[in-house]
Amino acid sequence: MISGKPSTSNQPLSSPPMRRPSPPARMMPVMFVGFDIQVPPCVTLRPNPWPCVQYTRVVMPALNQSVEECLSATGPLAGDWPGYRVREEQVQLAVEVEKGLAEGLSMALEASTGTGKTLSYLLPALLSRRRVILSVGNLTLQDHLWLGEYQKLRTVLPQLRQLTVLKGCDNYFCHHRFQLAREGRLPGQGQTLVHQFWAELSAWLIQTRSGEIQTLPLAADQISELSAVVTLGADQCLGHRCSHFADCYFQKARQQAAQADLLLINHTLLLSDQRLFEKGMGALLPAVDCVIVDEAHQLPELLIRRNTETIEEYRLQRWIQAVRRQTNGHLALFPALPVLLSQLEKLWQLIRHQLQQQGLDQGVKTVAAGSFKPLEELLLRLREQLSGLHVSAVDLTRELRQLTQWIELLQQARGDESVLYCDLVEGQLKIVAARLQNPFTSLNSDAVAWIFLSATLTVDGCFEYFTRSLELSGLQTRRYHSAMDYEQRAMLWVPADLPLPSAEDFFEAWTSRLLHLAQQLDGGILALFSSHQALQASLPLMQECSGRTVLVYEPGVNRHRLLQQFRQQANSILLATGSFWEGIDVQGAALRCVAIDKLPFAAPDDVVSLAWKYKAGLEQSSVFSDYMVPHAVTRLRQGVGRLLRATDDCGLVMLGDRRVLKKTYGIRFLQSLPPMPLTESEAEVAAFLSRMGITRKGASNEFFSTEKN
Ligand code: SF4
Repeated sequence: MISGKPSTSNQPLSSPPMRRPSPPARMMPVMFVGFDIQVPPCVTLRPNPWPCVQYTRVVMPALNQSVEECLSATGPLAGDWPGYRVREEQVQLAVEVEKGLAEGLSMALEASTGTGKTLSYLLPALLSRRRVILSVGNLTLQDHLWLGEYQKLRTVLPQLRQLTVLKGCDNYFCHHRFQLAREGRLPGQGQTLVHQFWAELSAWLIQTRSGEIQTLPLAADQISELSAVVTLGADQCLGHRCSHFADCYFQKARQQAAQADLLLINHTLLLSDQRLFEKGMGALLPAVDCVIVDEAHQLPELLIRRNTETIEEYRLQRWIQAVRRQTNGHLALFPALPVLLSQLEKLWQLIRHQLQQQGLDQGVKTVAAGSFKPLEELLLRLREQLSGLHVSAVDLTRELRQLTQWIELLQQARGDESVLYCDLVEGQLKIVAARLQNPFTSLNSDAVAWIFLSATLTVDGCFEYFTRSLELSGLQTRRYHSAMDYEQRAMLWVPADLPLPSAEDFFEAWTSRLLHLAQQLDGGILALFSSHQALQASLPLMQECSGRTVLVYEPGVNRHRLLQQFRQQANSILLATGSFWEGIDVQGAALRCVAIDKLPFAAPDDVVSLAWKYKAGLEQSSVFSDYMVPHAVTRLRQGVGRLLRATDDCGLVMLGDRRVLKKTYGIRFLQSLPPMPLTESEAEVAAFLSRMGITRKGASNEFFSTEKN
């Protein structure tokens, strides 16, 4: 029984509403289309979509010490930071970043694991006079940096300037959505969910200051369920037209960001900023002198994913089936609907037939956007019918959202915002729209300095793939080598008797070799799979025969909790895909082996592969050699980089894909990995485990007896 309604502000339920504070005397509102923000009068907001140097306020340095002095053996960190030790590579990298900031230089810097990269860019940014944006890979890394390195630095050097955090709009509680849900004005389960978590929401709203939805004291799956109801994307936000504007958590965060000298964001926000500006929503990010991008190796793929949308045949067919299923029995008022659905099927076949006649089977075809006008008109008529049904009888929220995306894709292409091309992959037609946007091209035309950092920016020791993918030129580049002793403390094992990954018995053979290794090795194993199907193929055998705790990362599982279990449960095996290929930091005996099933090539029907195919066609380059191999090399380097996380770590990389030895491109993978001994022999693996002291007590000799001569 619900006894009262939660307040829509962060005040106690019984308190009178908080009065909106008067703005400081020197603040004046600046109007954007759709938003207004308050900024100090000395700050000039940029007129173009991307940051350029217009910021006129001079920020005084908080500390009169250079980066080198701070990081030296006699500096404040050596004195007060527990466990701090001077690392030569870290100091060199930090000095380079400091120089880039001071002189406005754009650069790409590769710093291997163990360099202490985060401190190397955070400290110069905090000491700099410049206005800086720091962008990290995702929300988790954003929180880690804010709660970890930044707080430690502030403890040692309290005079350092403030770091302000901004996340995407959909990370903040939205009072407007909450009100709609509470009053039953959202389709679906919104009202039920809000009532279900009424008590938790009420208590949280009283005490939260940030309004970040992840801080709700609920389980991860409950938060994600509730997020869909009480948050929204920036392009749906009402801005100053919203009656909750004064209390809005997101708007407050934006106002703080507009005044920040040092702003911490994530890559999604970095890449969405320009899109929002072009949609007339106002830029989220302030003008700055420099953007520092950590985990920059993610940008080539992220840029494609953000810029590319598709209409895929299998999705369209599933959508038609879903609409037929849901609307069955409600068609009396909408008799045209079945006819329109049949017309859509026929039109799709016609499009595919015509494209095939024009040689689509031989490769990607660029298509004039006007050619799809009949398809667009048909989709618009369908939307009209379904909207009527949605209001009167059936919840078609998801179907309508998908339909609107397809319509927008075709409309934007007609408006010259993107190019359209078609591809036939495994008999399935795909229409791809690629937006012609690349925020990084501003690097070539204005004075903003971009500093890209990552442990994996090079392939074959060269930055060419990274710079070509982002269309960058004139970057200074430099590599900083790892403090980890891979040559002595790691080994790469490619088992001699494995079939190639295309063979039917590959997964059984690979899992069986891994199980043999598990009997010999003392320590945890991280098994990284190229796909979820591959993981599922190995899982039953692993659970049945390993004799160890088997942990599995599946969509929806709490990543942080799973990693905690992996660290704490000795000798466990963690099977994972996707995001576990990077950003995992497990030290010591909890991780002694990284096992990788296949070279991590992108699937040919993935949107990234389609985009590369198109790009390679334009450039007359090779999609495989110039895009697919470098991308897979980068991913493999990230996976292998999970092994040694501290200088006293040691362990084995087991790679199940013998193409790395048999194919000509294999050498590019091997040359890009950290220099470590390569073996196909189990006897050499056993000797290595013994030398490192990581052989399991009482291990049987079965491991050796399976080796073929
Ligand atoms: S301003 Fe936007 S985000 Fe804030 S409450 Fe209103 S609609 Fe929601």
